[in-house]
Amino acid sequence: MKENALTPHSEKIPLELSMGRVLMANLSADRDMPPFNKSAVDGFACRKEDLGGPAGGKFEKGLKITETIPAGSMPVSVVGEGECSRIMTGAMLPVGADFVIMKEDVYEGDGYIMLSSGSAPTGRGSNICLRGEDFKKGDLLIKAGTIIGPSHVAVIASAGVMLPEVGVAPVAGIISTGDEIVEPDHLPEDFQIRDSNGVQLSVQAGRYCSKINRYGVVKDKREDLAKILSKAEGECDIIILTGGVSMGDFDFVPEVLNELGFNILFDKIAVQPGKPSTFAVKESPFGKRVVFALPGNPVSSFLQFELLVKPFIYRSMGGDFTPVKVTVRAAKRYSRRNSERTAFFPVYLNPDGTFSPVGYNGSAHILAMTVADGVACIPVGKGEINEGEFADVIILG
Ligand code: AMP
Ligand code: MG
Repeated sequence: MKENALTPHSEKIPLELSMGRVLMANLSADRDMPPFNKSAVDGFACRKEDLGGPAGGKFEKGLKITETIPAGSMPVSVVGEGECSRIMTGAMLPVGADFVIMKEDVYEGDGYIMLSSGSAPTGRGSNICLRGEDFKKGDLLIKAGTIIGPSHVAVIASAGVMLPEVGVAPVAGIISTGDEIVEPDHLPEDFQIRDSNGVQLSVQAGRYCSKINRYGVVKDKREDLAKILSKAEGECDIIILTGGVSMGDFDFVPEVLNELGFNILFDKIAVQPGKPSTFAVKESPFGKRVVFALPGNPVSSFLQFELLVKPFIYRSMGGDFTPVKVTVRAAKRYSRRNSERTAFFPVYLNPDGTFSPVGYNGSAHILAMTVADGVACIPVGKGEINEGEFADVIILG
């Protein structure tokens, strides 16, 4: 499916808006970080050897304070034998100093400092962040293809780039189908169900796409489906449908996709929930269009968005996304009746590093997902996970 991703294009956007997008060009350091030897504490920059010797340091009166160095200024004097400079956190270390003694560790009086502990500081730390210790000018900081998170934003800013080059985010369209489905603000008849998938998929896709077009709820009628799909095809790169892909008499989505010239690349996957998930592509006059037609059951559409659609969207933006997976022991035995498909079931992680299944009635039970940390995976051919046995858990954020 990945090879059918949309061709990624790049654009420059404000750094503040780049969260969740994919960096399209390698980012290299334009200077060392830190750019100068920097004090990590508020204190006094001095020579470590001057702190040795008798109690209170080597010199009878202590070390003479020659200068105050605020952060953001250039030190003026050189620290010589028996001297120190008052220095603030983040300020440049003066020449001659190789140590910063913390303010809390000295007495100050008469323009001199004395060690308050009566002995020289021990340990390896000098309270100095050395020039270039984080990275050096020219180092590769972030590789092209990386998904930008808050820490990446910080590093990009530190390299002075305020308009990073990122992958263009696609436009997605969301269509709910089903004769029994009504808008959530509608008072449903006894035999009707509120459309929860529409808004759920909109917010899921909205985290990655540049725009979401909502097409509301469409009846299980070929003409209605064809009409709305044709409209969506003109307006969206990726169309996500829910419902109408099963074996029911009124499940017309695959048929209509064929009629509209979409090429269905798969119409089922060996996964539970989500078996009838369908994927179709079309080179339309508007450009390449793809359709994910997901089953209507809310857990199926939720999960198949996360497992199928989200990695696809990232690939179409030039990045590679794989969900976070941890291998953890089951706190309780879990079994299932048939093992023909890979099954996912909602679980939560316990503080002791195990996982427990959430009470779950099946793919209609979206409420179960609200208390889950993720889904545990039970592979094809395996009917149970025993207590204490390891299983893969996919964390869903
Ligand atoms: P379908 O995939 O169309 O056979 O639908 C399967 C089940 O999912 C039905 O029993 C519906 O109750 C439910 N369902 C379908 N579409 C939605 C939707 N948009 N929101 C909530 N539930 C839905
Ligand atoms: Mg239906």
